[in-house]
Amino acid sequence: MVDVRDGEVEEEEGRSSWLRAAMDDEGVSTAKVMKLIEAYCRSYIWSGSNTITKRALIAWDRMFLPKSVGGYNLLNIRIWNKAAITSVYWDLAQKKDKMWIKQIHTYYIKRQSIVEMNIPQQASWMVRKIMEARGVIQQLPTVQYKRTTTKQIYLGILGSYNKVAWRTLMFHNEARPKAIFTMWMKCHGRLMTTDRLANWGIQANTSCCLCNEIVESHAHLFGECKFTNIVWGRLMQWIQISVSPSLSYTQKMAWIIKQAKGRSCKTKIVKMVYSEHIHGIWMERNNRIFGETMKTAEQVAREITCFCNIKAKGGMREKMQQLMY
Ligand SMILES: [Zn+2]
Repeated sequence: MVDVRDGEVEEEEGRSSWLRAAMDDEGVSTAKVMKLIEAYCRSYIWSGSNTITKRALIAWDRMFLPKSVGGYNLLNIRIWNKAAITSVYWDLAQKKDKMWIKQIHTYYIKRQSIVEMNIPQQASWMVRKIMEARGVIQQLPTVQYKRTTTKQIYLGILGSYNKVAWRTLMFHNEARPKAIFTMWMKCHGRLMTTDRLANWGIQANTSCCLCNEIVESHAHLFGECKFTNIVWGRLMQWIQISVSPSLSYTQKMAWIIKQAKGRSCKTKIVKMVYSEHIHGIWMERNNRIFGETMKTAEQVAREITCFCNIKAKGGMREKMQQLMY
């Protein structure tokens, strides 16, 4: 029999060790706890374990950006907090007709300019923090003169970036989250294909394990590989879309981006099948290298259709049930 108390002690020790790491001489520091939580989340995404690691295939800050510019749209709580305080500052600067605003104006601001006055040191920590947010407003010209939502301020703080061409694939995509994540990594060209490992000087067998013909790269694995194309052709036959079998990686990307525009049922099915296809190919490649198991193109394609059928809802489900594999 397992002694439950042992587990409790272990958990207790684990908890106190990370708490100890977040403590300084004066006690627990909120900033350190936040940093630790973030480090655990980041490490879990990239390693799947609760051990803190700095290994990451895409910069953590990039994951907070909107999907349209290539981010993963995770919410950065620290920046959101800053945006929320800035939003409160905006109300204060505009002298909104609220009791607490009138009170701050009467006691601290009086007739001074809120933008130029010294921040009153006798004011509470909260009032000082709100007034310090004027720095954020000064950096964001678009929100200086117009009332904006916390979300708009948040996006303003994140900064502006160029939109990515493949953004359509990321919206209204009903594939499994892990399949979307693999596709997102692939679109960034960050999956650890053997040509990338070789570029870093890591010794590895660089030939594509799916066809054994040429060096494995993103363009080959997800575009030109014979095995990938057999699976893709089979899937397209299933959803009754005709595609040219000899497209290059770039042409295939351009085609799928075009197909992914819009919100129709057909568009959603194409997007879902494409994401599951990329994930299925990547998994088969990994299984062949690390798991030493092998499936045929037919088996991989059939498995993808199963995942799509399970995930499809509403109108998509009805449409998929009419398709014969
Ligand atoms: Zn290949």
